[in-house]
Amino acid sequence: MKFFLQDLSRVRVGILGGGQLGWMMVLEGRKYPLKFYVMDSPEAPACKVADRCFKPDEYKEMIDSVDVVTFEFEHVYEEALRYAYEKDKLLPTIESVELKRQRWKERVFYKEHGIPTPRFFIAHDVEEVYRIAKNEFDYKCVIKQSTGGYDGKGQFFIKSKNDLDSSIDVIKKISDVFVVEEFVEFDYEASIIAIRTFDGVFKTYPPTYNRNEKGILVYNYGPISNTYISMKMVEIAKRLADSLNYVGVMGIEFFVRGDEVLVNEFAPRVHNTGHYTLDAAFTSQFENHVRALLGLEIGETKLLSCGGMVNILGLANPPLEVLKYGKLYWYGKNEARKRRKMGHVNIVGETLEEVKNKIDKVMELLYPNGLDL
Ligand code: AMP
Repeated sequence: MKFFLQDLSRVRVGILGGGQLGWMMVLEGRKYPLKFYVMDSPEAPACKVADRCFKPDEYKEMIDSVDVVTFEFEHVYEEALRYAYEKDKLLPTIESVELKRQRWKERVFYKEHGIPTPRFFIAHDVEEVYRIAKNEFDYKCVIKQSTGGYDGKGQFFIKSKNDLDSSIDVIKKISDVFVVEEFVEFDYEASIIAIRTFDGVFKTYPPTYNRNEKGILVYNYGPISNTYISMKMVEIAKRLADSLNYVGVMGIEFFVRGDEVLVNEFAPRVHNTGHYTLDAAFTSQFENHVRALLGLEIGETKLLSCGGMVNILGLANPPLEVLKYGKLYWYGKNEARKRRKMGHVNIVGETLEEVKNKIDKVMELLYPNGLDL
C-alpha cells in the first residue's frame, strides 16, 4: 500500500483504540484536512474528538470506510488488526504487531538481526524457568510472561533464591511461554522515537532519559547528553525499522549500562516518551505518524528546546499549580483508577537542568505523599 495523494480532504484515517494516544493523534492530525474515524467505546478520549466513532463490534464497517488503518495499542483488537491487514490498509505492518504478541519472538528477532538485548532464554514450563533462573543467572533475573505483557504486567523480578521460591507458585498457574532474562543493572533507562516512510526515509527525535516505576513511565526528559550513546540508539532504531520495513512512528526503550545500549522493547506506535515532542519539537510524533501513514513528507524532528513530560497517574483532578511549570494535557477519562494515565504535563526549558528542576516541582505537586503505584 502506498498513497499518491492529491486531495487530503477525501482521506479518512481509521484508528483502532480511543485512548490518549489516539486522542493526540486526532488532535494533531486535525491540522490537515483529514477525517478521523476511531474504534472504541463512545466515552473514550479519542472518540470524543473523532469525526465518527465505531464500537469494537463494528470494526468491519469502520475498516471498510477508511483509507488507512493505524492503532494506538497493539495488544488488543486482534480480529480488527487482521481484517485491516487483509484489506491492505494496516500501518504499521502486521509483522511488528505479531512480534509484540509474543515477547519471545521479539527477543529472538533482536538476536537474529544483531540488535543488542539483555541475555535471555526461553522457557516452556515452570521447571525450565526454575532451571534457567538457577543455572544461567544464579537467581538474579527477570521472568516475563510471553503474551499480554505490558506496563510491567506478567513480570517477576528475581534477586535471590527466596524471591524465586516465593514467585514460583504464581508462575506455575500461568500457562504460557516465558522469557527469562538477565536482571540488567542499568545506569539509566532511555528511549528514542523513530519514524520511517514507505520510501525508507528514516528520522528520529533525540533520545530521552526515562524514569519508570513498577513498569510504568513516570516522567522523561531530553535530549540525553551523551552523543555516543545517542548515536548507538539511532543506529539500532534504523536497523530495527529497516528490518521490519516499517512505516510510521515507533518507540524503542533501552537500558544503558556504561557504553552499552540494550533494547528492552519497542512499541509499533506513537509512544508515551514522545509526548514531549508536542511542545519541544517543530513537528510532534503524532503529526509525523499521520504524515508517514499518508506518504507525506516527514516534518522536522529537531528540538526547539530541551523538553520533558510528567505523567498524571491515578488522579481525578490535576492540581492547577502545575501550570506554573508546564502545559497540561488532560485526557478526559471517565474514571480515575490507580496507575491509570489521566493526563500529562509537558515541560520545556533552555537546559536539561531547568527541565529537570521543573519536573521535580511538578512531581511534588502531583504526588505530595510520594507515588503510590
Ligand atoms: P517492560 O514491560 O519490559 O517494558 O518492563 C517494564 C520495566 O521493568 C522496565 O522499564 C524496567 O524498568 C524494568 N525491567 C524490565 N526488564 C528488565 C531487566 N531485564 N532488567 C532490569 N529491569 C528490567
